[in-house]
Amino acid sequence: MAERYFNWIGGQWVAARSGEIFQSLNPARLDDVIGEFPASDGADVGAAVEAAREALEGWRKMPAPKRGEILFKAGEILKARKESLAREMTREMGKPLRETLGDVQEAIDTAYYAAGEGRRLAGETVPAELPNKFAMSVRCPVGVCGLITPWNFPMAIPAWKTFPALICGNTVVFKPAKDTPLLATRLVQILEETGVPAGVVNLVHGFGESVGKAIVEHPRVDLVSFTGSCEVGRVIAESCGRRLRKHSLEMGGKNAQIILHDANLDLALEGALWGAFGTTGQRCTATSRLIVERSIAEEFTRRFLERVQALRVGYGLDPKVDIGPLVNLAQLQRVQGYVDIGVREGAKLLCGGRPLTEGELGHGCFYAPTVLGEVQPRMRVAQEEIFGPVTAILTADGFEDALEIANGTNYGLSCSIYTRDVNRAFAAIRDLASGIVYVNSPTIGAEVQLPFGGIKNTGNGHREAGTTVLDIFSEWKTVYVDYSGRLQKAQMD
Ligand code: NAD
Ligand code: MN
Repeated sequence: MAERYFNWIGGQWVAARSGEIFQSLNPARLDDVIGEFPASDGADVGAAVEAAREALEGWRKMPAPKRGEILFKAGEILKARKESLAREMTREMGKPLRETLGDVQEAIDTAYYAAGEGRRLAGETVPAELPNKFAMSVRCPVGVCGLITPWNFPMAIPAWKTFPALICGNTVVFKPAKDTPLLATRLVQILEETGVPAGVVNLVHGFGESVGKAIVEHPRVDLVSFTGSCEVGRVIAESCGRRLRKHSLEMGGKNAQIILHDANLDLALEGALWGAFGTTGQRCTATSRLIVERSIAEEFTRRFLERVQALRVGYGLDPKVDIGPLVNLAQLQRVQGYVDIGVREGAKLLCGGRPLTEGELGHGCFYAPTVLGEVQPRMRVAQEEIFGPVTAILTADGFEDALEIANGTNYGLSCSIYTRDVNRAFAAIRDLASGIVYVNSPTIGAEVQLPFGGIKNTGNGHREAGTTVLDIFSEWKTVYVDYSGRLQKAQMD
C-alpha cells in the first residue's frame, strides 16, 4: 500500500474534501508508487485561501527579523536533511543524486538569503523639498499569494517563491506540480517544524486545471506567482489581467550557447554537455541550441557526439549514471514528437532520437541523449522549447551572425558565449537579448543572490531571486511626515 499524504490547510493535515486522490510515480521505475496525494479542487482552495487570509494580520505584524528567524530555522532543517531529501527527489522526479543535492542546496541558500533580508527589506529615505518634513518609502506585504510551481526543481523553485513571500509578510497558498507532490510536502513539513503559525503556509495538491485554476480565479488571492510553460502562463496572465490581479510569470527558454572559433574547445564541450543534458534537458535554462562558428563546426560536432554517446543513462541513485529519465511518459512522447518534427523539417539526426528500453530501462521514461545537426534558425526545433535531452547544432558565419541567430527566438532567458576575445565577450554581453548571460560557462548555473528571469515570452517583467524578488512580493508605501505644524504645499510653497 502506498503511503497517504495530505493537504496542509490552516495548520491541519487534511484530505481533499472530495476524497479524491492521485499517485506520484518514480519515472525510472513506473511500478514504484511514491505515495497517494489529495486530488483537490476549488473547495480545498477556498478553505486554504480563507486560512491564509485569517493568518495574514498576525503574520504581517510580526517583526520581519522574527520572520527571518523562522526562515533561518527552515534553512537549518533543510541542511540537516539534505541527503535524504535529495534521495527522495531523485526517486520522485529522476534527476541524478548530485543534481538533487544541488536542488536542496539552492533551497538552503534561499532560506538563509531570505532570513538575512528580514533585517534589511530596505526602503529609501530621501530629503523632502519642504522644511520640517520627512520623506521615505517602506515595503508592505501584498497579502495572500498563490504560488504555482513546476516539477523540474521540486525544492528550489517552491523555496524561491515561498521564502521571499514569507519574509515580506505575506501568507501563502502553494500548489506544487502533480509530478512532485512528495518534495512539496517535505518542504511544508519543514516549515511546520519551524513553528510558522497556522494558516501562514497552506499546501493544496492537485492538477492545474482544478487547483491551479481555482487559485488564479479566487477573488481573495492578491498575487499569483507562477513558474511553468508559456501556454499556461498566458492563460494565467489573461485571467489575472481581467481581474487586475498582480502576477509574476517565469516561463520557458530556447537558450543558446555560442562557440566562437577562438574558444577553448575542451571547455566549450564540457559546458555544452552539461548545459544540454543536465536534468535530462528539463531545465528552463537548458542549452537547446549550440551555435558554432563554421570554421570549427566539424571538429566541435565530431568531438561533441563522442562525448554524448558516452553518457550513461539510468536510475539517478546509481552513482555511475549521468542522465536520469524524463519526468513522465507524456514528456517522453512530447520529446519524441519534436525529434520527429526536426527530422521532417530536414534536420539530421546525429545521435539518439529514441526511447531507451533495454533491460531495466524498459520500466521507466528513458530517452537517448539526442543531437540534431544541420538545423536552420527558422525550424521549429530551433524555435520551440523541447524540454528534454535534445540539442540542436546551428552553424554561424562569424560573430554577428551568431548573435543574430541567438536572438532570433521568442524567448530570452539564458545565453552563453565561449570565446577568448574579451572585446567580443563584452559586445555579446551588451547585445544578447537575454535575461542572463554567461561568458565561458554554460547556460545553466544561476546563483540565488542575483536576479533570475528573462525577456520576451520568458517572463512578464519580473525577476525572482536577488533583491528583485522583493519587488514581486511587496508593495511600496511612500510616507511623508510633516513636523512643521502648518500646512505646506509641495511644488507651491
Ligand atoms: P506547466 O506550465 O505545465 O505547469 C506548471 C504549473 O502550472 C503546474 O503546477 C501545473 O499544475 C500548473 N497549471 C497547469 N495548468 C494550469 C492552469 N490552467 N491554471 C493554473 N495553473 C495551472 O509546466 P511544467 O510542465 O510543470 O514545467 C515545465 C515548464 O516550466 C517549461 O516550459 C519550463 O521552461 C518552465 N520552467 C520555467 C522556469 C523559469 O524560471 N523560467 C523554471 C522551471 C521551469
Ligand atoms: Mn513522480
